[in-house]
Amino acid sequence: MDLSGKVAIVTGSARGIGREIALRLAEAGATVVVSDVADAEPVAGEIREMGRQSLAVAADVTSTSDVAGLVEKATGEYRRVDILVNNAGIARDQLLMRMSDEDWEAVLNVNLKSVFLCTRAVLRHMVRQRWGRIVSISSIVGIVGNPGQANYASSKAGIIGFTKTLAREVGSRGITVNAIAPGFIVSKMTEQLSEEQKGEMLKRIPLGFLGTPRDVAEAVAFLASEEARYITGQVLGVDGGLGGL
Ligand code: NAP
Repeated sequence: MDLSGKVAIVTGSARGIGREIALRLAEAGATVVVSDVADAEPVAGEIREMGRQSLAVAADVTSTSDVAGLVEKATGEYRRVDILVNNAGIARDQLLMRMSDEDWEAVLNVNLKSVFLCTRAVLRHMVRQRWGRIVSISSIVGIVGNPGQANYASSKAGIIGFTKTLAREVGSRGITVNAIAPGFIVSKMTEQLSEEQKGEMLKRIPLGFLGTPRDVAEAVAFLASEEARYITGQVLGVDGGLGGL
């Protein structure tokens, strides 16, 4: 997969899965705009050390003006934007009966409204270029649900509806729109689970191990590439077989 000459924006990429996606796209040759509410400069520095171009831009993806600023900085610096990875996401778990308005709104805003705002902001550049790749990080929870995560599951299911609709709207412009639905990925959250909880989790995964941020990043790099040109409106499970159960 060769992404030389392509410019990518990755949201929520100061750490975790987003960071790994940013590094993987750079490894494939892309110029990467690393964006987050947290300081993304260290990741941009890592990318520059790889010999690729990179810019860190602070942006809250729930803010229309921050998102406009992010895309302006990216296109101002590099003159184009080819790949958008909607990765920024949060969880605020609570059983529905106890879920506050704030926890509902925060999760829907960061996980779903952001996808609308960021995608809308890059789209006119991609339409002009007649080439674009939108990849959004959904979750297996958006397909099968999970107790305590009505807000999170709704946001991740919303990404799937968004993806399928936009794929139909912009297919004629050479733009593909896909989602990735990760299962259990090694993260700060999974590191904190007890051995017993981990064992229970592993029993449910046909492949028998947790995924890594790199597993998700590989799928993003593929969907962002020319090789994936005939794939659009799809949800790719990166979940060790969990989704098929
Ligand atoms: P993470 O480690 O918490 O990283 C998410 C990043 O997004 C953080 O750097 C965070 O910054 C940033 N962010 C939060 N709110 C933001 C906002 N309003 N604007 C811009 N950036 C914001 O999460 P992760 O585990 O890597 O997950 C990445 C994506 O994969 C998420 O969409 C998540 O739902 C999805 N996912 C994860 C798993 C998993 O097992 N880890 C499974 C399925 C799907 P702060 O740290 O400053 O808040």
